[in-house]
Amino acid sequence: MKPVSARLERVCVTPSQLPAPTLPEVAVIGRSNVGKSSLINAVLGRRGLMRVSNTPGRTQSVIFVGVGERGYVVDLPGYGFARAPRAARAAWGRLVEAYLVRGARGAACLLMDVRREPGEGDLMMVDYFRQYGRPFFVVMTKADKVSRGEWKPRAQALSKALDLGPGESPIPFSAVSGEGVKNVVKKIEESLA
Ligand code: GDP
Repeated sequence: MKPVSARLERVCVTPSQLPAPTLPEVAVIGRSNVGKSSLINAVLGRRGLMRVSNTPGRTQSVIFVGVGERGYVVDLPGYGFARAPRAARAAWGRLVEAYLVRGARGAACLLMDVRREPGEGDLMMVDYFRQYGRPFFVVMTKADKVSRGEWKPRAQALSKALDLGPGESPIPFSAVSGEGVKNVVKKIEESLA
């Protein structure tokens, strides 16, 4: 996507701050540290747009990034921080559900670390997407961490675990090697078209 066209539009930390849906939105989500910020920066061609960090438990927020006049890439707060207090998890659930219930057009992009089995949070997200009728696709992040030959069996295992249909195979992606950037950009552009 054209680098100049991506801009930070709005940061929401409570449900009431979420805007009414207008243009299509591609929502990106995954467990914390899955490589979400790195993916957003890579697909939008903007190295410093999203902060890449190792510190989980930052303020949970929904970040709208405007992509030209076509729509938004939306960064949803990550999950899976085992030691997060109950109140923080409840706040996460309220924010993510409030985001989904708006019923914006556009797909969701679920990120899964290529080396991990789906966790409770990942399964919950898939349930949410199905419950709220949100189309979604799965991206296997950090693909450079395993050999190329492992991508297919891992994609198949993930498809089975998440009950994905044929033609919904997870996309191998690496922010380090650039693998899959084009495929993810294509998915996002289709969704914003
Ligand atoms: P987020 O918490 O999901 O936003 O994840 P970040 O994008 O901040 O990345 C978390 C950590 O994983 C950082 O140390 C990144 O450098 C690393 N990382 C992200 N993407 C990749 C990737 O494609 N390959 C490798 N090897 N490391 C990655």
